[in-house]
Amino acid sequence: MQILKDRIKKDGKIREGNVLKVDSFLNHQMDIALFAQIGQELKRRFADETITKILTIEASGIGIACIVAQYFEVPVVFAKKNKTKNIAGDVYTSSVESYTHGRSYDIMVSKEFLSADDNVLIIDDFLANGSALLGLAALVEHAGARLVGAGIVIEKGFQPGGQMLREKGLRIESLAIVDAMGPDGIVFR
Ligand code: 5GP
Repeated sequence: MQILKDRIKKDGKIREGNVLKVDSFLNHQMDIALFAQIGQELKRRFADETITKILTIEASGIGIACIVAQYFEVPVVFAKKNKTKNIAGDVYTSSVESYTHGRSYDIMVSKEFLSADDNVLIIDDFLANGSALLGLAALVEHAGARLVGAGIVIEKGFQPGGQMLREKGLRIESLAIVDAMGPDGIVFR
């Protein structure tokens, strides 16, 4: 998606540890006109699919997922982090290793909001090592729902998550794939 790649080139900042900061339009301040274009593009790519629910993870996925969901006309469910299971009640849980924080945490979704009747599209801001996506896919599996695929805004193609998950048969549509980033800038696939 060219407009997204141009924006990443213009406003993205490369940080230590292969972290790409896109706080001015995606992760802190949010450019809703751009989110709308992301929603339209993902709807176009998944037009052949029946989708009944969008699943994301708090916090940075929520804003994107909500705008994308307007084009699919389905509810958004977000996986919550770090709630103790006995307080949470009847939930599906899985574990995620945080790329940006370097620790692992549990995620959960209430059984009320994912069921075997659902066709689920996962939406997230980044794909790096694939742990977030794996954790979300596990929730879908626990629910007995069908995982249609994943729509990702930025995939870091030089990290293993994308290849690992595609080899498992997951359909991943990434709108911008970064193949390299460093002092010479950002190279897209
Ligand atoms: P993964 O689980 O695929 O390793 O990482 C995905 C999650 O880590 C995303 O939900 C995103 O929040 C965060 N993340 C991974 N890489 C980056 C990055 O380069 N920049 C930012 N802003 N977030 C990242």
